[in-house]
Amino acid sequence: MPDFQSRFDSVCQRAREAMQLQTAADTLEWDERTGLPHAAGEYRANQVASLRAIVHGIRTDSSYGDDLTWLMGHATDHNPHSDIRATVECLHRDWDRDRKLPNDLVQRTAEATVRGQQVWDEARKSDDFSLFRNTLNEILDLKREAGERLCEGTDRSAYEALMDEYEPNASVEDLQQVFERVRRPLVKLIEQVTQSEKQPNLKAIEGVFPVQDQRDFSHRVAEAIGFDFDRGRLDETSHPFCTTLGPHDCRILTRYDPHVLSSGLFGTLHEAGHGTYEQGLRTDWFGLPPGSYASLGIHESQSRLWENQVGRSQAFWQWLYRDTQQTFSPQLDEVGLDSFYFAINAVRPSLIRVEADEATYNLHILIRFDLERELIEGSLPIDDLPEAWNARYESDLGIRPDSDADGVLQDVHWSAGLFGYFPTYTLGNLAAAQLFATATEQIGDLDELLARGEFRPLLDWLHQRIHFHGRCFSGNELVQRACGSPLSAEPLTAYLTEKLGRLYDLPRG
Ligand code: ZN
Repeated sequence: MPDFQSRFDSVCQRAREAMQLQTAADTLEWDERTGLPHAAGEYRANQVASLRAIVHGIRTDSSYGDDLTWLMGHATDHNPHSDIRATVECLHRDWDRDRKLPNDLVQRTAEATVRGQQVWDEARKSDDFSLFRNTLNEILDLKREAGERLCEGTDRSAYEALMDEYEPNASVEDLQQVFERVRRPLVKLIEQVTQSEKQPNLKAIEGVFPVQDQRDFSHRVAEAIGFDFDRGRLDETSHPFCTTLGPHDCRILTRYDPHVLSSGLFGTLHEAGHGTYEQGLRTDWFGLPPGSYASLGIHESQSRLWENQVGRSQAFWQWLYRDTQQTFSPQLDEVGLDSFYFAINAVRPSLIRVEADEATYNLHILIRFDLERELIEGSLPIDDLPEAWNARYESDLGIRPDSDADGVLQDVHWSAGLFGYFPTYTLGNLAAAQLFATATEQIGDLDELLARGEFRPLLDWLHQRIHFHGRCFSGNELVQRACGSPLSAEPLTAYLTEKLGRLYDLPRG
């Protein structure tokens, strides 16, 4: 009878092998989204699907499952939240989830979603939802089937079962409550801001910003906040993302608009924030739960914190603005720091989520959260989706898309099969504000540090409280431990009320 240690080593070995193959598939996908010749798409889809099927085979192997089940019964000698206990519990949880999905379904989903992203890209370029309709419908059927298999015998809905992959144990009811506590104050705040007589001059940050200068600048800024270019790189794609291909290989991707500086710059800060989390995970546990991110909500909290709480702060621009003016001279020669700072914090309802300001952003998420739930539940027919989308934008944000490209086709997520993913963005915004507020209290002179370009103390603080723990704690537990209170809507609404109140001269109270 093998003892605990040998069984534990054996499951770790197999989990690491699965991760080697998974990151190989991820590398192929990174390549697919950065420079794959158009005609190579179909073969690439097959390659990725084959690799993912092998990974699925390892993770659902019955002897692997037997070992994990045995370890679950014998792990109680180890402390809760210890590396060993977390490894056993999380791997068992993943195994239990994976085994409910037959290999055939996993493979068909992988093929459909790689193809789906290519079809989506073409449909978006042609501004025509009908080109994407059948592919999306196929993906929806596959995800619905997955959700139904995963929730069988539990009290979870198919949509909640899909969410579990990104935010373990999140409930639709809880999310609706938290979102409502965010939505109400934000709607009021946005209304006040829109009606204020004091408005930023957005022309100040539009003009000519040569892409090569933006590349160099973004690279410099990402490096300054702590993204390690010896262990990662920055590239370009149509829809920015971050992917980790090995313990010392984190890839971040952004996109540049030659006429708008903020899109590429904040896109880079956002992805570099994700990157600092990945690079802060413990490499000796790479491929295992203690060396993996806790949840997508926590991942997003790291990107949002660097993009917004840091990147849109006055202190940050006290440090960076002179360099910015020099880099993009003569474009910004006549634009003062205050005008620039106001312009990058402008709040104005818009159609595109990834370019939305901090205040309206969460309204974009609420729309997607509702629509994708209705699509999975089947209460929203796919042919009604574009109109449902446009109608919600009109009612929630007061603006209506006049094209599919700026409407229902703007995000890659659904084409990639990512249903249940969107709500993690708002969870991330909430956690970012709460973590930053606590860091400000505990570090003390954070503003002065940021104004001097000293980001290390903040990065270290996040490393100790978040990155280091991997999956040993849940997202909620990490926030609770770091902040001494559970995740709440209040820090985000307080932060926005204070900052926007100051910028827009809003009445207090
Ligand atoms: Zn993100």
